[in-house]
Amino acid sequence: IKLAVPRESAAGERRVALDPATAKRLCELGAEVLVQRAAGARAHFTDAAYREAGARIVPSAAALLRQADALLKVQAPSVKEAEGLREGALVVATVMAQRNVEAVARMRDRGITCFAMELIPRISRAQSMDVLSSQAAVAGYKAAIMGADLSCRFFPMLTTAAGTIRPASVLVIGAGVAGLQAIATARRLGAVVLGYDVRSATREQVESLGARFVQLSVTAEGEGGYARELTDEEKAQQADELAAHIARTDVLITTAAVPGLPAPKIVSPAMVEGMKPGAVIVDLAADGGGNCALTEPGRTVTYGAVTIHGPLNVPSQVPLRASEMYARNLFNFLQPMLTGDALRPDFEDAVIAGSLLTRDGAIVHEPSRALVE
Ligand code: NAD
Repeated sequence: IKLAVPRESAAGERRVALDPATAKRLCELGAEVLVQRAAGARAHFTDAAYREAGARIVPSAAALLRQADALLKVQAPSVKEAEGLREGALVVATVMAQRNVEAVARMRDRGITCFAMELIPRISRAQSMDVLSSQAAVAGYKAAIMGADLSCRFFPMLTTAAGTIRPASVLVIGAGVAGLQAIATARRLGAVVLGYDVRSATREQVESLGARFVQLSVTAEGEGGYARELTDEEKAQQADELAAHIARTDVLITTAAVPGLPAPKIVSPAMVEGMKPGAVIVDLAADGGGNCALTEPGRTVTYGAVTIHGPLNVPSQVPLRASEMYARNLFNFLQPMLTGDALRPDFEDAVIAGSLLTRDGAIVHEPSRALVE
């Protein structure tokens, strides 16, 4: 079986679906791994390293696609990639169908079996395949670093000949996978950290990292361990109680998300106006529109004396480790279906069935079908 790894084509994408170490493990299981020339270059994996791992370097995308039995990608295939594959080939990628409607339609029409990694059910057995978690952890880490970098203050307390300098205060809104990693990283840098989430289950997780939990009167547990959207009344209540905390914060990191919806707007212009001079907002929800009303996705703007950073695709900014983690998730997903030299997915398996997006000329995943058709 030929597993093919292209150079990612999305603008600014530096990650690659397989690192050399994982390519080697797949070769050892009997797969043939084909890697497009320079596919790993932006993540600092050389062609030579892939060759050493047992992979074959293929000069062009077209040649790679023609030979692929399965295409392994970080981001959704482009329409061109979907067209370049042989009919009935397999694709494994983070597809995000709502943002890639045309490519999904093309995969359907070409009889491609596509597994969307973001659809893998978040059950214990599938944790090692969870790309949302691995990449969110990368983003959370980097958000804390970005906040420290943009701040005009120190994260740690410094005791110097010029006196003792107070540590920065960091508030993290949204204590999911990304938020918890941001909290842990800001703590390691020595900041005084507060964490807030609408799910009360996060209190213990926030506190276990040495941060203080901000308890507000609004809680909103939704389905499957996620948050639900707040009602207008709850939003007003939340804003009221949160404003005082935000006013005392040096670095605000926002990561709040509700599955399937645009990012909730939590930080209003009035709250930004109330912040300290030199305060920083790192809005990790910028990909989904942002948690701050003033965030401009993909840009860094200043509003009064406050810097608002809205980075896009943050995992791509730590490309080496993010790729390694993504590749391990892929390996854990592929290994059970790799038998001898073939890929034989067990479509009855909950993890495989749950992540199946297209097969046999149809969009199998109902919510995505509604979006595309
Ligand atoms: P996410 O990216 O969807 O959301 C980030 C956080 O924002 C969540 O914690 C959410 O509660 C919070 N949020 C939403 N609206 C908010 C608001 N208005 N104000 C403040 N906070 C708000 O979430 P995620 O990081 O992908 O994970 C969410 C849950 O899924 C967590 O409980 C996590 O532990 C769980 N999870 C389970 C598994 C597994 O069992 N395999 C894997 C990963 C995550």
